[in-house]
Amino acid sequence: MFDFIMTEEQKKLRDEARAFTKWVPRELILEMDAEKIQFPHEYLKEAGRRNLLGTRIPKAYGGRGLKWVDAGIVGEEIGVASYSLACLHGVGADLVCDAIINFGSEELKQEIVVPLLKGELYAAEGLTEPRGGSDFFGTTTRAVKDGDDWILNGQKRFVVGAEGADWFLIYALTDPDAPAHQRLTAFMVPRIAGVESKYIYGLMGVRGGGAGRVILEDVRIPGRFALNGINGGFDVFLSMMIPERLGTSAMTVGSVRPALEIATQYTSKRKAFGQAIRNFQAVGFKVADSALQLDAMRSMVYSTCLAADSGQVSSGRVRRMVSQTKKFTSETAWEIVNNCMQVLGGIGYTDVYPIERILRDIRLSMIWVGTNEIMQSIIQTEWYKEYKQMSAAQETRDVEQDSRNADQIEEKVYE
Ligand SMILES: Cc1cc2nc3c(=O)[nH]c(=O)nc-3n(C[C@H](O)[C@H](O)[C@H](O)COP(=O)(O)OP(=O)(O)OC[C@H]3O[C@@H](n4cnc5c(N)ncnc54)[C@H](O)[C@@H]3O)c2cc1C
Repeated sequence: MFDFIMTEEQKKLRDEARAFTKWVPRELILEMDAEKIQFPHEYLKEAGRRNLLGTRIPKAYGGRGLKWVDAGIVGEEIGVASYSLACLHGVGADLVCDAIINFGSEELKQEIVVPLLKGELYAAEGLTEPRGGSDFFGTTTRAVKDGDDWILNGQKRFVVGAEGADWFLIYALTDPDAPAHQRLTAFMVPRIAGVESKYIYGLMGVRGGGAGRVILEDVRIPGRFALNGINGGFDVFLSMMIPERLGTSAMTVGSVRPALEIATQYTSKRKAFGQAIRNFQAVGFKVADSALQLDAMRSMVYSTCLAADSGQVSSGRVRRMVSQTKKFTSETAWEIVNNCMQVLGGIGYTDVYPIERILRDIRLSMIWVGTNEIMQSIIQTEWYKEYKQMSAAQETRDVEQDSRNADQIEEKVYE
């Protein structure tokens, strides 16, 4: 995040997050990428020990009780060490804890949030199913009532941290005949009999974070493990989309930052035709554009964090801004890392520099927490709604009249 907008407290917070990122052992990053490690328990423990889990979660439960801007500052720094670590950092402490704080009982807050923010346990989110992730309402995992309990059956896939999770936030169908928004429930499911995780994917990047399949077979849980009550899953889903996508945007800024730093150093030292290659515009301009794009990503994350923090911006507009930010940061990061790889020439394509890992890791940002096509769809829906309201309220100048033949009504044919 930009240092010139930070308060002294925020600078201290950034420095704490930076110190933690410096602490991350190089071997941990390499062994996760090589899949020698499938779940980095010690990383989460250390984050908890430093009170760097749950920036926005109330202090009473072990968080920092801060705002979105602060979470954006931490998120950027956390992203620097590795995207895989940042995914794990975000899913448990930010997404799942947020859902429990907003929709869970005091008992669940004490049982899950408090130890999770100490890094003592981990909670994953299981929304995506083998039959699809974009179509949330098409969820087929079923929960059937049995006395005071619910029996769950189904499968979730691509669950980050499935291997190490002690709890899973699972969306399940509880009233199949109800309208789409009232048929699903978000359950907190402990790792008990009937819950099995399988680490089965050969991922392109973000390796070592335990992403796997979760199989639920006759899992019996009490109704009090439902967040927001039975059939209240849609509101939980809707609220989680903010931390999922805004958190992803912030950490994506941090994760691509090292690519720019490496490209800047390399192009200053590397010589061709008797001079440093940064002097060739084709090279220097790629680095310049990357610096510009990184700041544009930051600006967008910052303004969306402000919108989310303000409490003054309509939920539809926040949803549009968050979706725009997720789409923009993920696509821009991809362009940055690609250009940074290009200016390193052949060596950029090897594991002598980490750019190839960053490129593999960052590609996920366009797919997970809702694909960028789904982001476009949300932006489209919300923008048209907003514009309709704006034009109905006649808030702005009627720009359509600012042309020579604006009054040629018969030429304005729409059907
Ligand atoms: C490494 C990794 C980690 C992940 N972590 C998690 C996790 O922790 N928890 C979790 O629940 N999920 C997780 N996911 C799943 C991820 O969020 C989904 O893969 C993603 O939402 C897309 O779902 P899908 O793969 O089923 O693709 P589909 O939904 O089948 O989509 C396929 C294609 O169709 C497009 N498409 C679908 N519907 C529409 C539409 N209406 N309009 C336009 N285009 C459309 C999509 O954009 C996409 O391009 C993870 C995925 C990966 C790869």
